Amino acid sequence: MLKLGGNVDCWCGKCNMILAHTIEAMVKDKPARVHCNTCKAQHTYKPNKPGETSRRSRAGEGGAPKSPQARKPRTGSYQDLLKDKNIAHAKHYSPKDKYTPGDVVQHPTFGVGVARVVQETKIEVLFEDGPKVLVHGR
Ligand SMILES: [Zn+2]
Repeated sequence: MLKLGGNVDCWCGKCNMILAHTIEAMVKDKPARVHCNTCKAQHTYKPNKPGETSRRSRAGEGGAPKSPQARKPRTGSYQDLLKDKNIAHAKHYSPKDKYTPGDVVQHPTFGVGVARVVQETKIEVLFEDGPKVLVHGR
């Protein structure tokens, strides 16, 4: 039980930590003024570090970091596109060649990609780094 002249653990702003304090004044059943048993400073009774809610002072509760489940979506479509392709049959990219959608293209810079969109003179190839527009049929 808290009583006048008794000890209570509370926040000391001078010591900057929770310490035992002696109760100097009570309001109803709560300490109103205390002095720090360590530095003897008198101050109002603050059960917790200012700025922290009492909830947070309970160790381990609340504030749990969000689980790292929210993984960045992999370039899923690239993996999906390549999944049933035979990379060994990839065509070495040349702007002189003609490509059709679904062709596996081996590019000297971008690596292996899959042709997605084919136009008259351009193809869009999805590489691991993302889609690139290449020329073809030159
Ligand atoms: Zn103190």
